Amino acid sequence: MTARAIINRQALRNNLQQVRNVAPDKSVLAVVKANAYGHGLVNVAQELDQADGFAVACLAEAQRLRNAGIDKPLLLLQGALDKAELELAHQLAVELVVHHSGQIELLEQADRSKSFRVWLKVDTGMHRLGVALRDVDACWQRLLDCAAVSDRPRLMTHLANADDVADQATLRQVNRFYDLDMAAGTECSIANSAGILAWPDSHADWVRPGIMLYGVSPFTSGNGEAIGLQPVMTLTSQLIAVKTLLKGATVGYGGTWECPEDMPVGVVAIGYGDGYPRHAASGTPVLVNGQRVPLIGRVSMDMLCVDLRTVPEANPGDQVILWGEGLPVEEVAHYAGTIGYELLCKTTARVELELI
Ligand SMILES: *Cc1c(COP(=O)(O)O)cnc(C)c1O
Repeated sequence: MTARAIINRQALRNNLQQVRNVAPDKSVLAVVKANAYGHGLVNVAQELDQADGFAVACLAEAQRLRNAGIDKPLLLLQGALDKAELELAHQLAVELVVHHSGQIELLEQADRSKSFRVWLKVDTGMHRLGVALRDVDACWQRLLDCAAVSDRPRLMTHLANADDVADQATLRQVNRFYDLDMAAGTECSIANSAGILAWPDSHADWVRPGIMLYGVSPFTSGNGEAIGLQPVMTLTSQLIAVKTLLKGATVGYGGTWECPEDMPVGVVAIGYGDGYPRHAASGTPVLVNGQRVPLIGRVSMDMLCVDLRTVPEANPGDQVILWGEGLPVEEVAHYAGTIGYELLCKTTARVELELI
């Protein structure tokens, strides 16, 4: 197979610097969950040695980082889910999010030799993880009293609508957070990428950038390059066949696209088996030798077809870019009815990651 994801390390460092520029003097927890949004967990963490710590979704991710010798603070975003996880979290020296009282109970039952740094997660309006506002005081007190909680607990929340810069729900969430008494006396974290870029009031002490580190815009329109970010992943493959189809010929499974005239059609060695979205519609842009051409017909598992009428000189072996440098993943996502986040983290194990 020839599908490769080229990972641009300089772009990654640039994007971290953009976080620092926008949120100066804040500590940065770089979010590297889901294999660093598909970019390769360990490589990304090694490259982001200027981050103050890393946030992961699950312990397996934390373990991979520790095994690779990463010794920075690691925050487990879902917290420990049972006793065995708490034990492993301790071995790995992972900081824990605590988002419901059962997790406090686990800590209260932990043996006295163990201690953890914890972040109490408060639900200020996302209504996914987090302690309800009415329960925060009681949970906070229990954490203060808990022998297994080493330092002063920290406080965090997550924004539900920060990607919509016109939605005042974000400010309501931020205000609810700062209305909590303990927010003034401890280290706090609110902002994801959209918060960092659009809502300075959400910066608090620790920011938690994910998608922007990878060069992609968190917003509902536009793309990362327009806001000073550089795409980190460029997904590439090559043409493996070029043919002339006659007027009326249909392309691919289901024959959903019909040639309006005799025309050159290229076959690209990439498909949904590599994580290219099957829902990408005819017309989705693809770069062949740096020029935009439209995808035609249905995406198959290992291949997709493109209309080469504007690049008739293209040959098998020529380079194809599916997203990244010169073609924002946000745009492809739009044609596939999804968001850049999903496309990035869905590239499959068959796609070789190549660091440059
Ligand atoms: C994934 C995640 C982030 C990062 O979000 P982006 O939109 O990618 O910046 C931050 N905080 C939490 C709790 C997350 O789950």
